[in-house]
Amino acid sequence: MNKSSITEQALLNTRTKIAILGGGVAGSTIALRFAELGLDTTLIEKGPSLVNGPPICHLHAGGNLYREISDEQCLTLLKQSIDTVKVYPQSVNIRPTVIALPKTDHGQPMDLLPRLEKLRDRYSELVEQDHRNKVLGEPAGYFRFYSRTEIDALVGKPIPSKATRASDWLISFANCTDLDKLKFPVLLVQEYGLSAFRFAAIASLAIERLPSCHLQTNSQVIAVKANEDNLGWQVSIKQSGSEVIQQQQFDYVINACGFKSGEIDDMVSAKRQRMVEFKAAYVAHWSQCKGLWPEIVFYGERGTPQGMAQLTPYPDGYFQLHGMTQDITLFDQGLVASSLQSAQPKLAPQFIEKIDKKWPEQLIQNRTLGSIEHMAQFVPEFSSATVAAKPLFGAQQIPGEDPDLRAADVSFHGKHYARAEIVKASSALAASDAILANLVECGLIDDVLTSEGAEIVLKDYLTEHYFPVSQQCSDSEITERAVLLAKQRDYPVALAKNL
Ligand SMILES: Cc1cc2nc3c(=O)[nH]c(=O)nc-3n(C[C@H](O)[C@H](O)[C@H](O)COP(=O)(O)OP(=O)(O)OC[C@H]3O[C@@H](n4cnc5c(N)ncnc54)[C@H](O)[C@@H]3O)c2cc1C
Repeated sequence: MNKSSITEQALLNTRTKIAILGGGVAGSTIALRFAELGLDTTLIEKGPSLVNGPPICHLHAGGNLYREISDEQCLTLLKQSIDTVKVYPQSVNIRPTVIALPKTDHGQPMDLLPRLEKLRDRYSELVEQDHRNKVLGEPAGYFRFYSRTEIDALVGKPIPSKATRASDWLISFANCTDLDKLKFPVLLVQEYGLSAFRFAAIASLAIERLPSCHLQTNSQVIAVKANEDNLGWQVSIKQSGSEVIQQQQFDYVINACGFKSGEIDDMVSAKRQRMVEFKAAYVAHWSQCKGLWPEIVFYGERGTPQGMAQLTPYPDGYFQLHGMTQDITLFDQGLVASSLQSAQPKLAPQFIEKIDKKWPEQLIQNRTLGSIEHMAQFVPEFSSATVAAKPLFGAQQIPGEDPDLRAADVSFHGKHYARAEIVKASSALAASDAILANLVECGLIDDVLTSEGAEIVLKDYLTEHYFPVSQQCSDSEITERAVLLAKQRDYPVALAKNL
């Protein structure tokens, strides 16, 4: 390719104007992906800051928290999580997960083995293909089962503050869990944590440094209208606290509005079937907590009083809790579907009230104490934990009709309109890859891009993740910004720090 055609193509790329509506995990990741390549990207977010939607605490590198989903979804989540750790290493809390089956559970621990072997083999293949994929430790150590005798041998040992071998992660579990309530063996798997506050900090810092990303916060999209040629869009935006409505023109629109995506679909008359589910996690402080804690998951049937109990550790004795019962994480009528008339599922007013305003104080106490009690069935001393903050909560979209779908990324409608439809944060990069490929297919982006004065052959970057600016953010500045966001959002700063 000669120099002048490179320049023409670079010009085309900087002329193409892309709007991303919604600055959650999906919108922010897509904005970073594009702006890192020098594409003209406008990120429009209703709220005051980025990545402030429903919570995120698990990376889901293998989907092992969900027995009910297909092996295919688990393998997809594994690959997507590996990609996420490579791009955002400082947002990951590196600690394994212990999965235990209570005696009351219908399953057997060894039922999990066939899937775990598939996941370990896939991880091993990915590492063989590219050593940079080795982000979950040695493939052979992806999972390991521990017998009752092995766990009993750890009882009474002091809880270490650092792990020098895999079994060190099980000492707190062995000392504090009522082992007689469990089936054996128990599983230790390299399922890590993902910090929403650190993710928000990286997105905010990098976007501030990327000149081709134009961030508009406190800006609500109230209308989207196709231009007469059906190729471009007019987006109407209302700033918080102002009656003025601003109109902006774009060539391509990405709907990344999370559980409100149906509202944008309705504005452009795009039909779509989806569900929305309101859920909550709780924050507790356990002052007796000492040393190293893994994530601990006690399996159980979703929606019943025996629903899964999850304990997610943070520094300084703070824990995030999920309990998959109707009285803790799930809510009666919390799952709703779209209709023939509207792509936007309608949540009952009591949920919208919680999202837009606040939770009643008594409900915070009742549900958080309920989550502590649920965990104390298995970890008796945890009953002394106290309510530490308001819940972490929100509504998430699930595209289609299967409420158990966990690995989803993107769909397209008509010309120049894409929807990010992630269910898990780790799917956001896959959504950005698919939209980038669609921009090329539509002829809106050329094969050669100019970023920071350097020419990039785009086809090399359709699957390769190019995030030089995001990856330059230092650990200390990420912690500083994440702590600030946690304070602004009224959560303990421990949730913003790495373990
Ligand atoms: C209790 C709970 C626990 C969860 N735990 C995990 C977990 O551990 N790991 C995980 O991967 N996932 C988890 N999830 C799911 C995860 O939170 C969501 O899938 C994820 O946040 C979706 O990201 P998003 O960017 O698509 O949507 P959102 O995060 O909802 O972002 C959408 C953004 O669009 C903005 N917006 C909406 N309408 C407009 C408009 N008209 N104009 C401008 N902006 C607009 C919103 O303000 C918001 O910032 C959990 C969800 C819940 C409810």
